[in-house]
Amino acid sequence: MIPYSRQSISDADIDAVIAVLKSDFLTQGPVTEKFESQVAKICNVRHAIAISSGSAGLHLACLALGLGPTDIFWTSPNTFVSSANAARHCGAKVDFVDVEPDSGNISISSFAEKLKKAQTYGKLPSILMPVHFAGQPCDLFEISELSKRYGVTIIEDAAHALGATYRGGPIGDCRFSACAVFSFHAVKVATTGEGGVIVTNSDTLAAKLRRLRSHGITRTPSEMIAPTHEPWFYEQLELGFNYRMTDIQAALGCSQVARLHEFLSRRQYLADRYTQLLKGLAIELPIVRKDRQSSWHLFVVRIDQSKCAKSRATVFSLLRSKGIGVNVHFIPVHLQPYYRQLGFKLGDFPIAESNYNVSISFPIYNDLTNAQQDIVVAALRSSLQ
Ligand SMILES: *Cc1c(COP(=O)(O)O)cnc(C)c1O
Repeated sequence: MIPYSRQSISDADIDAVIAVLKSDFLTQGPVTEKFESQVAKICNVRHAIAISSGSAGLHLACLALGLGPTDIFWTSPNTFVSSANAARHCGAKVDFVDVEPDSGNISISSFAEKLKKAQTYGKLPSILMPVHFAGQPCDLFEISELSKRYGVTIIEDAAHALGATYRGGPIGDCRFSACAVFSFHAVKVATTGEGGVIVTNSDTLAAKLRRLRSHGITRTPSEMIAPTHEPWFYEQLELGFNYRMTDIQAALGCSQVARLHEFLSRRQYLADRYTQLLKGLAIELPIVRKDRQSSWHLFVVRIDQSKCAKSRATVFSLLRSKGIGVNVHFIPVHLQPYYRQLGFKLGDFPIAESNYNVSISFPIYNDLTNAQQDIVVAALRSSLQ
């Protein structure tokens, strides 16, 4: 089976992990700090905070920005469940903004319309979490202009978008947001096994995120309440978690982000090659806008049902039977039983739903060979007929 995504592990990656196993620190230590500074450099941002997963990072970001039970939170329905769950963990009310049909990213016109309505009802969100679907950046400029006008704070779910660029700067530089969260799950662009990184330019937000990832504890005397500090002293200032990354993971992370350029150029090459090879089939190919570059975490194709009589389910099963480990991104979050039980239903976000009904994610990852890609293309060609 050719999977839709998989990690790329080099000898250097393995050696980096072994070196940590032979060192003094296995838990969060000097290698985690090194990983953080490497990610901060890539993103051209002041602070990077490594955490145990992207989901943990989204939760901490919401919490640190003060999201609570009286707040409203909006995100995209075209995402993994953890974008919305992050806000539910803070007790906030979750709602969604429908997406554009071509990019699968939040639609600016839907966002503008929904803000206008929400204002008249006094139900504006405090936080919006746009998701850079498949690695293509959202319309961050337009999102931030609208958000400023209505007093909405932005957390970018950048789980797919490490290495992507937008209007001349990297995703993660936080020009248009309070913070951004990357995932280093094994299927993402670069991996630590499980892991995540939050990036921000705010010193106070960074300090709060660092405390919250470690139980709400500080060891920094200037942050403490007590006037005297013995050498063993620490203070718990708020209720936090153990959301730390280990140095074992961070070592893999350091080695992986050193290979980021290799990963991105291979993914770009494969995406371009798919676009060439799949021309003229009964499908719609992913689009990329002019002022941005995707990291190509996913290559999502939509079946054009006006030209192809077979359903997505049929094409999907045919591909799987031919050894192609295709996947589907995403089942709209509002249709999950947990969110239906909160009042959402079929028809609430029609574009996310109709995209879901025709989408298939094709294999794209660093170690996918041209010959394997040819097998995938041939399988799709025959499955559509
Ligand atoms: C993978 C993913 C996450 C969660 O990341 P984890 O590191 O697996 O917790 C969040 N949002 C999106 C859009 C994702 O694809």
